[in-house]
Amino acid sequence: MDFKKLTVFFKENGVPAFRLKQVQDAIYKNFAVSWDEIPVLPAPLREKLKPELRINSLDTLETQVSKRGNAIKFCFELKDGLKIETVLLNLIPEKWSICISTQVGCPVRCPFCATGKKGLKRNLSPDEITDQFLAAASFLKKTRNHKIASVIFMGMGEPFYNYEAVGEAIHAMTDPARIGLGQRHVSVSTAGHVPAIRRFAKDFPQCNLAVSLHAADDTLRTDLVPLNRTYPLSQLAKALTDYIVMTKRKVFVEYVLMDGINNSRSSAAKLNSWLRAVAAPKYFTINLITYNRTGGPYRAPAKDRVSVFAGILEDCGFEVTIRKSLGDDIDGACGQLAGK
Ligand code: SAH
Ligand code: SF4
Repeated sequence: MDFKKLTVFFKENGVPAFRLKQVQDAIYKNFAVSWDEIPVLPAPLREKLKPELRINSLDTLETQVSKRGNAIKFCFELKDGLKIETVLLNLIPEKWSICISTQVGCPVRCPFCATGKKGLKRNLSPDEITDQFLAAASFLKKTRNHKIASVIFMGMGEPFYNYEAVGEAIHAMTDPARIGLGQRHVSVSTAGHVPAIRRFAKDFPQCNLAVSLHAADDTLRTDLVPLNRTYPLSQLAKALTDYIVMTKRKVFVEYVLMDGINNSRSSAAKLNSWLRAVAAPKYFTINLITYNRTGGPYRAPAKDRVSVFAGILEDCGFEVTIRKSLGDDIDGACGQLAGK
């Protein structure tokens, strides 16, 4: 919602200022997505506002619910006709996480990721980012009377290539006068944008940082995450050490397992020594993600090989989780978001 425009409209039309707060609360606290859902406003005022201003910048084209009901994928259309996807995941009963997109496409172009295939179309605006939360929250409220408990910037795009807008959206989400989530319930996942990691430590020391590592060897990592050419592992290591020293927070390490590529014993050993050089194992949670189909040459390892890989790292003293793949039947799993 463009509050600057609303403020001007109210002034020009002699609407008292307290109405602004009413609109703000209706949108951020009650998740109104249309003027008719704000009955505290007089009906004639609502009618006047309808052609002037949209509450939510996104049009919902499609809402898909996974078979088990624990993943919901939204396809939204933006003003210029481009499409983005947002996923709600229900990991704990009645507690939903939302996986938010930050760009249309992605400039990093990791070869195993559906989002990266088409390159970058454009950055999302702060409102387009926040509105994904508000539209999904409105849907959950209306259909289940549930709430969103946490936000992960892990949808389409590289959040740190759209730092300003992501930062503004985090402010909207964590400001008590607006959405009011705790910073600790907000996580940003990056492919390893070193300068932005340093900035994030200063700007949002209470938020969570996740780094998509996928390999602890520069040659392999450059193949898998081309951003590694710009910010190689040595620079990433320094930035993470500084991040941990500054924030005293854990870092989440994302590692997509692809059979025969990065899931050998020696890959696990390299990961162990690389992380140990950054900080003590207690500062990391390693999230192992089994590769989700995106139509490339990669394959997911068999289940037992995933457990072996996890076991090695656990024996090295790391906390390891194997990410449950919710929503793969609706192409809403990690890396499958393409805005088709
Ligand atoms: N660009 C950011 C955030 C979005 S990608 C980043 O890369 O961190 C979100 C996560 O999905 C990343 O950890 C990414 O590596 C992972 N991912 C991408 N493609 C995948 C696939 N095909 N299967 C499983 N995970 C994938
Ligand atoms: Fe971009 Fe992340 Fe996909 Fe890589 S994995 S192409 S950084 S969205």
